[in-house]
Amino acid sequence: MFIAGEWAQAASGQSFDVFNPATGEKIGAVADGGREDAARAIAAARDALAGWSAATAYRRADLLSKAYEIMVARKEDLARQMTVEQGKPLRMARTEVQYGADFLLWYAEEAKRVRGETLPSSRPDQRFLVLRQPVGVVAAITPWNYPVSMLTRKLAPALAAGCTVVLKPAEATPLCAVKMFEILEEAGFPAGTVNLVTAADPAPIGAEFTENPAVAKITFTGSTAVGKMLAEGAARRMKRISCELGGHAPFLVLEDADPVHAAKGAAAVKFLNTGQACISPNRIYVHRRLMDPFLETLEARVTRLRGGNGLEDGVGVGPLINDAALAKVDRQVKDAVGKGARLVCGGHRLMEDGLDRGHFYAPTVLAEVTPEMTIYREETFGPVAAVIPFEDEDAALAMANDTDYGLAAYVYTPSIARAFRMMEGLNFGIVGINDINPTAAAAPFGGMKESGLGREGGHEGIAEYLETKLVGLSV
Ligand code: ADP
Repeated sequence: MFIAGEWAQAASGQSFDVFNPATGEKIGAVADGGREDAARAIAAARDALAGWSAATAYRRADLLSKAYEIMVARKEDLARQMTVEQGKPLRMARTEVQYGADFLLWYAEEAKRVRGETLPSSRPDQRFLVLRQPVGVVAAITPWNYPVSMLTRKLAPALAAGCTVVLKPAEATPLCAVKMFEILEEAGFPAGTVNLVTAADPAPIGAEFTENPAVAKITFTGSTAVGKMLAEGAARRMKRISCELGGHAPFLVLEDADPVHAAKGAAAVKFLNTGQACISPNRIYVHRRLMDPFLETLEARVTRLRGGNGLEDGVGVGPLINDAALAKVDRQVKDAVGKGARLVCGGHRLMEDGLDRGHFYAPTVLAEVTPEMTIYREETFGPVAAVIPFEDEDAALAMANDTDYGLAAYVYTPSIARAFRMMEGLNFGIVGINDINPTAAAAPFGGMKESGLGREGGHEGIAEYLETKLVGLSV
């Protein structure tokens, strides 16, 4: 762990092991922190707050830029760490490191653009000022699916705003977090501004984050169930909270779309990170007239994807993160097939050539999926494309919106009128129109409904870490 500028073991002296999901091999061990360690890290962040929030925006920007430069110089090392710890193919890991680094640079720039306001008053002897100030100590909890970029997406805007941070990474991917904190240390952030607490059991750390009065704000990325629990805890002390939670993205291929182009897009985005992304398409609605060419292209693309160890050339899909994830995917596929879905390809674990030692599932396409199937509502987080036919566009839009989630949605159509109808009618925080990658450090990312609260990235991202203070001044 990294607390008050020092690398530290857990107070208990315990550690826990980290495994490669592709091979089952142990790849390292980290401190197994408990509540006491979280409290110590929060105290360090509280002690560092006055100094860091008083540092000029230019100084904060300078350190974030240094961290950016170190991170880019270490791209290969970070990417390899990610592949062995999380499983994604090396090429994708490199892309994620760059995406993660982009947040450091973007918020280095945004730090210098935190603006207040002056407002007119109805009294001639009064002036109004609106100040933007850091919220205070931030507690961050991050997931394993994007084990580098989810850290910088929180750390960079918080630090840019003048907040100090305690971060708890996911228990499956703490080694990437350790490497990121080595970079922050080297960049020269003052002791206590950034603190890392690793733990095998997240619950006591989460409890300390919500109950410790020194924490002003919680920022979380993970499952909706845990997000709701943390939000309840935060509510008891009226702490600020941002949550980026689960999703169940619809992917609509409208009647006038090119089915081959759309299927290529679906194949690319669905199997990214082995489907373990909150913006992964979960329900692919295809106009019935386009179904045959769409499925033909999708199947051809998907059967070409090679599953395997992400360090090997030519591997397109890595393993799932653990046995539970594998079991969930298999259960959803069996349920769908049992209820009448047609298995186009895949539908089984990958066992050959030593893959049985990892958590591999064959890239899978299911056709004729219906609302009665579990996969239609439950987040999949795995390499399964569920395809649903439709005939009426308004009905398809209603079906797309018929979910408790509201993170991402995708639409394929060449018609600008249809594109507008869809972008305005879809109740999702992110909409890709003929576009499968609607994310960037400069763009606000986040969900509606049970997909979360708040936005990360863009100028919205730093606002989550700023408090608004009104000053009335008699002159
Ligand atoms: P997933 O099911 O995808 O692993 P989780 O929501 O369980 O999603 O995990 C996301 C992050 O939330 C991880 O860092 C994990 O350790 C953390 N987490 C899980 N349970 C709790 C909890 N009770 N309190 C605080 N953090 C938690």
